[in-house]
Amino acid sequence: MTTGIRIFKTNIAAEDGKRDRHGLSGSKPPYVSHAHNTGIMLPVITYSRNVFLPLTFVCRNACGYCIFRRPPGEGCVLSPDEVMRILRCGAGAGCTEALFTFGEHPEEVAGFMPWLEDFGYSSILEYCYAMAEEALAMGLLPHTNAGIMNADEMRYLSEVNASMGLMLETTADIPAHRNCPGKEPARRIAMIEDAGRLKIPFTTGLLLGIGETSSDRRESLEVIAGLHRRYGHIQEIIIQNFCPKPGTDMSAFPGATLQDIQETVRMAKEILSPDIAIQIPPNLADAAKVIPCGVTDLGGISPVTIDYVNPEHPWPALDELRVLTKGYTLKERLCIHPEYIRRGWFHPRLRDCIKNLENAVHMRGTFVIPAKPLYEGKAKSVYSSEKPDELIVVFRNDMTAFNGVKHDKFTGKGKLNATASEFFMKMLEAEGIPTHFIRMSAPDTMIVRRLEMIPLEVIVRNVAAGSMTKKYPVAEGTVLDWPVVTMDYKDDERGDPMINDDLIQVFHILTAEELIQVKKMAMDVNRVLSRFFDECGIRLVDFKLEFGKAAGTIYLGDEISMDSMRLWDKVTGESFDKDVYRFDKGDVITAYRNVLKRIIPDVEM
Ligand code: ADP
Ligand code: MG
Repeated sequence: MTTGIRIFKTNIAAEDGKRDRHGLSGSKPPYVSHAHNTGIMLPVITYSRNVFLPLTFVCRNACGYCIFRRPPGEGCVLSPDEVMRILRCGAGAGCTEALFTFGEHPEEVAGFMPWLEDFGYSSILEYCYAMAEEALAMGLLPHTNAGIMNADEMRYLSEVNASMGLMLETTADIPAHRNCPGKEPARRIAMIEDAGRLKIPFTTGLLLGIGETSSDRRESLEVIAGLHRRYGHIQEIIIQNFCPKPGTDMSAFPGATLQDIQETVRMAKEILSPDIAIQIPPNLADAAKVIPCGVTDLGGISPVTIDYVNPEHPWPALDELRVLTKGYTLKERLCIHPEYIRRGWFHPRLRDCIKNLENAVHMRGTFVIPAKPLYEGKAKSVYSSEKPDELIVVFRNDMTAFNGVKHDKFTGKGKLNATASEFFMKMLEAEGIPTHFIRMSAPDTMIVRRLEMIPLEVIVRNVAAGSMTKKYPVAEGTVLDWPVVTMDYKDDERGDPMINDDLIQVFHILTAEELIQVKKMAMDVNRVLSRFFDECGIRLVDFKLEFGKAAGTIYLGDEISMDSMRLWDKVTGESFDKDVYRFDKGDVITAYRNVLKRIIPDVEM
């Protein structure tokens, strides 16, 4: 029946964004905190969400510090299947950039070609082109760093790349580059210049601590500044600190110090034109200490792949990035910066992909620290996570009753409920009941599966109490002949009215089969919890559950805590739950602590 759908959907749409819990599934963007509506303008730090595709580890250069390079052999070329798998993962995780980085002119290394020819390609650039086309087809913008290329090669790849890069590393002649034909500074400068002539948005940078001096760094920065003055194509410069790797010629090299990195960032800020982003890789440097020196970009961060050049340094999760950039506005960007999109510095083939991704990034918005919650409920705050299918739930210290009429805060309450909830979710999961619980990230913070919530409060009652005794002629404490399930329509403004099976179906909240399933799950939860509490000397009087859906499966969501259950001491009848607060029966924190002590004796709260 279609009218049912209409009534239901209209109600949701009429609610304002903040209250629209259905929107948690991503239908509306009201939770995205945009920098411009915070009132304060914090300095912006950008990053790009990427996947890293090392097409080959074979390289004609043999730099003294590198562990990326490998000799030709089994697996030396990333297979097209593997590329597709990574691209799919990236697309699924909302990545916008496919970073193709690989060894320079591997064709010059004896024994390499057969491995590439196996996949039907006669040069690595041809292979890169084909894989970049696949990336575009999946909605990711390619950025290639292939080492030294000539102008024709760059023109060819620019048809399918939104930007390209080559680290200048240093203008100095250093021993680390002794066996590297491609690391001759003049050749690298010439290539960056060619990229400028071709109007390719370009990334370059310095590698610190490979044997160059501070004045070499200044000279390198001045060269880059000069190239940009002429061609205006340098969108970002990476200040990357070399990390000595065991097993390389330079394993005992000290590498760059924090001071070196800070000094070079300051130097870059002084020397380079302000439209060039100054980038540090947050997985290498002590980002929190370097950012204030003038960093404006954190480069590509991957929720999917590792940093193959520095595999021992994991990228921070996007959550951690938000903490690292406290006091700044963390903003996502594409691998082609806005100014170059505006100028149209891209091949027409890339237009649609760029436009779509610009939109996607805009919709995701900007993270401002502290990140605003997607939804702020009566007792918990829900934040988006870097993973689109996960949410971060913070159990706050707020306590409310009678639909928010009574409201207080109690220190430690969030932690107590989160601990109980974790405990019960794990217990139910072990009993075969699917729950949204993934893990705890702090004592009051739970990472959960993102669900599309079913707007029902599913209540299971074993003993008459609370609203049941008000609405019906039944005395508090009456043991019911069997457990009953009742349901309320979850809607604070309407006072969570009771709803029945027919209404649930006619409003298309659940199908008949889903309804049976939800009731069965509720009864299963009751069976598991009642038995457990009984063993702890506690009577489970009644409790409330919330369910939600993800990928067609119904999961138990929300919380199972002293806020959502009515618990009585089996002998004395004393309350251990929210009734202590509702009816001022004593100290609610002591009561909650007592429950935890009984259910998890070794917990320290
Ligand atoms: P409320 O005031 O609406 O009861 P809470 O303070 O309980 O809010 O905060 C939690 C909110 O998040 C609830 O609206 C709940 O329905 C919703 N929620 C709980 N678990 C999930 C989940 N896994 N996915 C999406 N939303 C969830
Ligand atoms: Mg709630």
